[in-house]
Amino acid sequence: MGSRVSQSPDLCWPKSCSDGVEDRYSWNPDLAWSVLQVKQTVKPVQPILPETPKPENHTRFVCLSDTHSKTNGLSVPQGDVLLHAGDFSNVGLPRDIEKFNAFLGSLPHPVKVVIAGNHDLTFDLDSYDETFKRFGHPRKFDCVEVKSLLTNCIYLEDEETSVLGFRIYGSPWQPVFCDWAFNLKRGEPLREKWNKIPAGVDILMTHGPPVGHGDKSKYGDTRTGCVDLLHTVQTRVKPKYHVFGHIHEGYGVTTDGFTTYINASTCTVQYQPTNAPIIFDLPNS
Ligand code: 5GP
Ligand code: MN
Ligand code: MN
Repeated sequence: MGSRVSQSPDLCWPKSCSDGVEDRYSWNPDLAWSVLQVKQTVKPVQPILPETPKPENHTRFVCLSDTHSKTNGLSVPQGDVLLHAGDFSNVGLPRDIEKFNAFLGSLPHPVKVVIAGNHDLTFDLDSYDETFKRFGHPRKFDCVEVKSLLTNCIYLEDEETSVLGFRIYGSPWQPVFCDWAFNLKRGEPLREKWNKIPAGVDILMTHGPPVGHGDKSKYGDTRTGCVDLLHTVQTRVKPKYHVFGHIHEGYGVTTDGFTTYINASTCTVQYQPTNAPIIFDLPNS
């Protein structure tokens, strides 16, 4: 999907941001984007159709996100690696994790890589002490036990895996919104998580988008993406693909000329699972 031009993404950041993002930008994605967009490239990319044959010596990746337990009858194209960028459940109940795990088990993809999102409450041990009451769990479940139900995938939480020769890193964190799981304040707290991402991974998976790509919320027509995440992606990590979800209405694919950004939200903003999985192919090394 998409040809690459050799533009250096570093040049897109104003001087004041090049050593790190100033707090006034970190904390306000609309303000940050009003400054950044002058030099940023955001080009829509037409995803590969499922019937397109995979080129020789390539690996096919199939991206899902935000399935929110609505996997019944979901049509998932064939591929080598399935990626799911979080919000696989509604509130992280064990039966939802079992259902998701059975769904993964029913798919033919040889490798599946999954991260959690803000809805997967039982995967965030720290916030679960509080969220289990607020989101109506019948009792406090044992998070370690619930996590262990997810057996049919590689689960990543601020860590990297190597799959068929490709480096993939996954992280569930996103900017605070209504105090769900894996919520962190913009600025230093999120920056600390992004600083753990190693440079040069091929594919980055986060639950939330970076600012400027698939991040516009229909609520208030505001940008919701993380400014520090885009800065990290463009100036240090430079993945070939950045796969995320979370802002369902941001579904689609864009490029900045180097990295391709995939908002793979399967559910629409009305939580209908009607957005098609997004496919890309990478040449084998
Ligand atoms: P979810 O609850 O599944 O994580 O997100 C569902 C929807 O809530 C998104 O599609 C988006 O409309 C809205 N939403 C999630 N996070 C944010 C945010 O940080 N800001 C705004 N304005 N809307 C958000
Ligand atoms: Mn979601
Ligand atoms: Mn979400």
